[in-house]
Amino acid sequence: MAQRRTTVRADRSSLDGEYDVLICGASFAGLAVARELSGAVRADGSPARVLMIDRYEIGERQTSACGIPTHWLEALDLMGSHRQTFDELVVGTPFGTTRWPLPWSFSTFDYPELCSLLAEQSDCEFETAKVDGRTGLTVHTDRGDLTAPLIVDALGWRRVLATDGGFQPPDAPLSRGLEVHPGGAGDDLAIWIDRDIVPAGYGWSFPARDELRIGVGSFDPRFHVKQPTVKLAEDLGAKPEGYQGNWIPHELRAATEDGIFFAGDSAGHCLPLSAEGIRTAFYFGIVCGRELRGVLAGERTSEHALERYGAFSDKHEWKYRWMLKTQRIVPRLHPRAMHAVVRVTRRSRITSWAFGHYFRIASPDIVGAAPAPQRPRAERAAA
Ligand SMILES: Cc1cc2nc3c(=O)[nH]c(=O)nc-3n(C[C@H](O)[C@H](O)[C@H](O)COP(=O)(O)OP(=O)(O)OC[C@H]3O[C@@H](n4cnc5c(N)ncnc54)[C@H](O)[C@@H]3O)c2cc1C
Repeated sequence: MAQRRTTVRADRSSLDGEYDVLICGASFAGLAVARELSGAVRADGSPARVLMIDRYEIGERQTSACGIPTHWLEALDLMGSHRQTFDELVVGTPFGTTRWPLPWSFSTFDYPELCSLLAEQSDCEFETAKVDGRTGLTVHTDRGDLTAPLIVDALGWRRVLATDGGFQPPDAPLSRGLEVHPGGAGDDLAIWIDRDIVPAGYGWSFPARDELRIGVGSFDPRFHVKQPTVKLAEDLGAKPEGYQGNWIPHELRAATEDGIFFAGDSAGHCLPLSAEGIRTAFYFGIVCGRELRGVLAGERTSEHALERYGAFSDKHEWKYRWMLKTQRIVPRLHPRAMHAVVRVTRRSRITSWAFGHYFRIASPDIVGAAPAPQRPRAERAAA
């Protein structure tokens, strides 16, 4: 990162100006966009001015258990933040425990370290500022107004830059997630599908070398997860300390709206069935960044880039719809039937096939490959 100014809350200077690209949000999605824009130039060959803003310093606020397919860490050269790798998923139901071999390994990582490594792969400017809203292509922050022809909302589930002001829980299509981070060690990447923990959702324990990330996610936003999280931690012999939680979108949203690019949770890119949203934030953030880069270089107009990126995201809609359907079916299954399904499928070809498809929804191959060009929505509609 070329320029980084830490601003102490009580001593924040005003911030305004015009940039070529404004990336709002500096977590997984925002950092992926910024990475793709590293070294970006304008059509005249001059360096593009890219600013990324977040209300916190980069890597300051973790809101995730930080589990991801290991290939993603390797593809983005982020193994420096790696904590622990797992080759199987341990699934607990009220009727027993099943070990599911994973066709690809899963790893936990350290959030501040990963963000710092990603930020190093970018050369944009960074400022801390809270985004309050937007008028056209001007973003209002608590430090002033920022204008750019290309604006990315990577601000997470609330979708702050939407024309209607974004999503409000508990009525919006959102899940709840809360976890604790006690010190400790473990060997198993474990989840529990058990109505006694949460009627619709699951509990988890993700070991990360010297700490455990124990939490509960509820697909029903009205169900509070604090008490179940505390109980799960205590049942596992861990202290419920180091809380962190957030809302999690479980429905895909439009990836572009009113001239704004949305990536990661702001576009509902988190996967509905598993609440896995890190690799999808990377995946769509990378594609978004490439579109912006093309606009800067004069290869396409911003309108064309909006169409292309929107079409790319829309192409994944049916996969998200199927995962949402499955998310709704699972809690309705009788626990005994659920356990039977988990046991029977643990070594079947169907499971490897299903896992393979699930993995390819946001494959790390995108890191090394330019995405296939998408036909703009208007063209597809006319066809
Ligand atoms: C408890 C829990 C555990 C999870 N575990 C996993 C997991 O193990 N693996 C996985 O893949 N997914 C997990 N998820 C989901 C995952 O955390 C999200 O899908 C992912 O963080 C989305 O990334 P993002 O960059 O789009 O948004 P976020 O990570 O939410 O980042 C948004 C950024 O915008 C900033 N911001 C927000 N509002 C403003 C504002 N008004 N002004 C300025 N800045 C603002 C925030 O500070 C933040 O830096 C979990 C979620 C929860 C809640």
